[in-house]
Amino acid sequence: LIRTRFAPSPTGLLHIGGARTALFNFLFARHHGGEFVLRIEDTDRARSTAEATQVILDGLAWLGLTSDAPPVYQTSREARHREVALQMLGEGRAYRCYATKEELDHMRAEATAAGRPPRYDGRWRDRDPAEAPEGAPFAIRLRAPREGATEVEDLVQGHVRVANAELDDMIILRSDGTPTYLHAVVVDDHDMGITHVIRGDDHLTNTFRQIQVYKAMGWDLPHFAHIPLIHGADGAKLSKRHGAVSVLEFEREGFLPEALCNYLLRLGWGHGDAEILSREEAIKLFDLGGVGRAASRMDYAKLTHLNGVWLRQADDARLTQEVVRRLASNADLTLDETAKTRIALLMPALKERAKTLVDLSASAAFLARPLPLPFEPKAEAHLTLEARQMLAELAPLLGETDFTTEGVDAALRAFAEVSGKKLGQVAQPLRAALTGSTTSPPIDATLAALGRTEALARIAAVSE
Ligand code: GLU
Repeated sequence: LIRTRFAPSPTGLLHIGGARTALFNFLFARHHGGEFVLRIEDTDRARSTAEATQVILDGLAWLGLTSDAPPVYQTSREARHREVALQMLGEGRAYRCYATKEELDHMRAEATAAGRPPRYDGRWRDRDPAEAPEGAPFAIRLRAPREGATEVEDLVQGHVRVANAELDDMIILRSDGTPTYLHAVVVDDHDMGITHVIRGDDHLTNTFRQIQVYKAMGWDLPHFAHIPLIHGADGAKLSKRHGAVSVLEFEREGFLPEALCNYLLRLGWGHGDAEILSREEAIKLFDLGGVGRAASRMDYAKLTHLNGVWLRQADDARLTQEVVRRLASNADLTLDETAKTRIALLMPALKERAKTLVDLSASAAFLARPLPLPFEPKAEAHLTLEARQMLAELAPLLGETDFTTEGVDAALRAFAEVSGKKLGQVAQPLRAALTGSTTSPPIDATLAALGRTEALARIAAVSE
């Protein structure tokens, strides 16, 4: 059984890089009929918070990337991490290291001065622990191989290796009895039966050390796939200054989860030139072979375009609900049942013009606005004295019109013809009067959505 995991550290927000990692793990597992599980890596107790965990859970739920099992909290497994470390110690695969903080600081300072990466010199590797002062604290270090190389066949990066001489004996259990992060990850991935570790390529260097732990325990290695990170358009690491980075921010800015998933999938993974992929299609097609090796660049314009495409395909009732929810906090609006019905009626036309739920909501707001309407200056300009008189003449005709899109359309055409005007000359002031702006869906649909009573009230408000 294929089993993948997403293992975020709950120290901040759910970054879209993390969301993409979760998505790839989810799709890979689903593609193979396997399982996708969540592990909350909360071992950094000082920086991990319950709020950050909740943000991750909410973000994943919003994206529809739900775990097939209850999340595993890494801190709950500390006893097991310790047990494995002690087993390695018992088997001579690890050893007690009594080096003091001063000694380690000294090693680090020397390395830094020589321009080398800091490195433990192995001074307790072959020393008898009996030589340590009575009761002195010790850490447990992995007895890492010194000859040869540690190699990995990465499913994205290809063959990668590091000479073992470049890796020092890492600590697996600190002197206070807590496991180190690299050790905990291996024990958890092993115990959880993870077959494929798919994560950001910033973890590639950790992989070599982790492999050494697997080998010391005689455990089978999982497959590794290190996916390139997401950068900003300028090629720099993605950060706030590029725009939204957290999943919940994208939600707030009016992106649909399916659009964000579609975008993140296409960012760094390709299948021919397919651009618009549903969740089902993505599950069917996803493979690690399609993941590129170069860092991807976040393109907000492209995401916005994709969002428009998904918006037009989205269910009207769902969009209405979203819009109502977003407008509800606006104290200038009256979101009663009548307004909701108007929004629902006009939704097919409104969504043709919007790129995000924020645009969509803004374009629907006029339907819930009580009189008197505020007017944009451009709309005001259409409401000349002459135009107001024309609207006053139009009103009785609308009073006896069948208020469907077709009925209204026919009435407006007839009115334009009789008064010797072009349809636009009627529609422009009418739109201004009805919406307070110069843009709206087609005027017939707009009138039909407002309904006769409201439409006439809005016309009366400008023509009296
Ligand atoms: N907890 C790590 C992170 O949030 C991920 C570790 C892993 O995937 O192995 O970056």
